[in-house]
Amino acid sequence: MVNSSSSGLPRRVVVLGTGGTIAGRAASSDDNIGYTAAQVSVGDLLGDIEAPAGVTLEAEQVAQVDSKDMSFAIWQQLARRCAHWLAQPDVAGVVITHGTDTIEETAFFLHSVLASSKPVVLTCAMRPATALSPDGPQNVRDAIGVAATRGASGVTVVCAGAIHSGVDIQKVHTYRLDAFASGDAGPVGYVEEGELRLVRPWPEGGGMSVGKLFEAAELQWPRVEIVMSHAGASGAVVEALSQAGGPDPLRGLVLATTGNGTLHHALEAAALKAQDAGIAVLRATRCSNGRILPKTGDLLRDAGELTPVKARIALVLELLG
Ligand code: ASP
Repeated sequence: MVNSSSSGLPRRVVVLGTGGTIAGRAASSDDNIGYTAAQVSVGDLLGDIEAPAGVTLEAEQVAQVDSKDMSFAIWQQLARRCAHWLAQPDVAGVVITHGTDTIEETAFFLHSVLASSKPVVLTCAMRPATALSPDGPQNVRDAIGVAATRGASGVTVVCAGAIHSGVDIQKVHTYRLDAFASGDAGPVGYVEEGELRLVRPWPEGGGMSVGKLFEAAELQWPRVEIVMSHAGASGAVVEALSQAGGPDPLRGLVLATTGNGTLHHALEAAALKAQDAGIAVLRATRCSNGRILPKTGDLLRDAGELTPVKARIALVLELLG
């Protein structure tokens, strides 16, 4: 493992469990897809994993969900627990075990709200814990090594030997163990037999702390929906959403656009109407690489390089103020 004990002072890495396939169980070790996610405790996931020299491990179960069902309430709790642990002087960093489906959203959310610059390393698995050859233990081991590394910072995701920044990572494959990519930016580095090989600087840690997340017991999260533009799109979904009203009215809309921020004309007309009615509208490209390059005369704001799911988080946080 990564040697992290140069000063000799004891340091802790805290591993927070949230569920996912990494904690999944199937009836047979041959079955890598017919499992139930979020069954094994984070303490059990640590199993025989040895801490790096000079580091002790601590485990805490924050949630136990299939990450396709991730919620704002869990994010709030996770952000609070991260902030709590990162504030302890002897804590070198935090590892979070998570499902692969929404790991990029949780990573981006934490990147956006955590004020500490200490490393927060999310990790996951594509095979359940009961698989003949599970990928979870190695990923957890690598993630702990990254969290314990002096000089590491920011929110990253470690999977299949690659370290991705929480801003750039996207799930790009449904089945392969190496299911993630970081688009044009590429990974931050690699973990090879416990050694780190960085190919670009650590992501910056210490984003904007959103006070309300850490103070309010129950938060009214603004409702922001994503609507995709495609051949034959219409304004019907946007109109229905804008008119829905009720106790949780639409506050924001992310449009998953074609190419460089383009929209079907019918969808664009409905979005402009929604914007005029006070709904915050943001365009984010549905292309997996590149960014929206703004043009003079654009009537709807764009989210630059953010994917639609990350643009939605950015808009939710903006509306939370
Ligand atoms: N549905 C699972 C989850 O996101 C998939 C996984 O972890 O690979 O929790």
